[in-house]
Amino acid sequence: MTKTFNIAVFDGDGIGPEIMQPTVELLRSMAAKSGSYDFAFDNVPAGAAHYAKHGESLPSPSLAAARASDAILLSAMGLPSVRYPDGTEISPQIEIRKELKLYAGVRPVRIVPGQPTPLALSGGQPVDFVLIRESTEGLFHSQGTHDVRDDKEAYETLKITRDTSEKLFKFAFNLAQSRKDAGRGSGRVTCVDKANVFAAFAFFRKMFDEEAATHPEIAADYAYVDATALWMVEKPWIFDVMVTENMFGDILSDLGAGLMGGLGLAPSADIGDDHAVFQPCHGSAPDIAGQSIANPFAMILSAAMMLDWLGATHSNPEMAADGVRLREAVEAAIADRDGVTRDLGGTASTTEAAAAIAARLT
Ligand code: ATP
Repeated sequence: MTKTFNIAVFDGDGIGPEIMQPTVELLRSMAAKSGSYDFAFDNVPAGAAHYAKHGESLPSPSLAAARASDAILLSAMGLPSVRYPDGTEISPQIEIRKELKLYAGVRPVRIVPGQPTPLALSGGQPVDFVLIRESTEGLFHSQGTHDVRDDKEAYETLKITRDTSEKLFKFAFNLAQSRKDAGRGSGRVTCVDKANVFAAFAFFRKMFDEEAATHPEIAADYAYVDATALWMVEKPWIFDVMVTENMFGDILSDLGAGLMGGLGLAPSADIGDDHAVFQPCHGSAPDIAGQSIANPFAMILSAAMMLDWLGATHSNPEMAADGVRLREAVEAAIADRDGVTRDLGGTASTTEAAAAIAARLT
């Protein structure tokens, strides 16, 4: 029997609509060929352009539609030219993460043979790890509190809670177990922190240890965030699952995107107990918007993660397998330099890049 999944779609700003449209088309055609799932897409407004026009960055009906959906696809939001009165950029995606309690920011980093990477990998070891960024608290907790005093001092507060950390670490160990079961990881979780300096991170690590004790079959270790940045460049193949605080994860996930060959290839998912958002790691790239040269692969890989997640949470193996098929089609296209856009040294337009993936799925 076919089950229809309701997907809230945020086209967003800049290149957002250009990369979302072909991604939705790919999902429609995969669903049309499947026997077990279909999609009802619901386009909902939010973002900087919407704020400029209507004075609202995340209208409540849009948030309600996201809350009611089975999954959320989000391209990119924000424009440097549109800001809140305090000078910060419009970022409803951060509000959505907080509102829907999407505590686990999942950032896979994969480098497969043929993929362009700035690393000269010794022995060409494949790289396949997942960085999990806590996405609702940490140093982003005080965002919007504007605590700047007399133009002399500014304060931001880092928040780590037991409630969120326990869920985060459970998620990380379960992911390591499922990667190990699928033959994709060694079965190891690394807690990335700065526990040598901050009590908040010693607390973070203590809760990591508590969760680790309940997973004797998964190895657990720690790394300081500064050393982690070094090792991600020197020997990224040593990592399996890494779990870290919001701000550290924000920074390290861009480093991971750089290792993969650029932001145009880096997908992500923000997952909570009941909801999940799938979006590329990159921003709205206003410098190239409207030219049909944006790379849609990060958006398409994020859609593959959505298939994977929906398949796992709804016990639909066909959907999960289609997620793998979609990811592998993108990886094969990159390796063959088929449908490669300008950011990766090719000449394909956004539409041609998506068509290359569609051709591999027939
Ligand atoms: P944000 O802070 O919103 O994440 P950002 O400041 O990191 O945004 P991006 O919008 O991600 O900036 O763009 C950074 C650079 O990467 C720009 O030069 C942009 O053109 C390029 N870029 C980002 N995404 C893509 C893409 N999908 N295809 C091609 N180039 C991209």
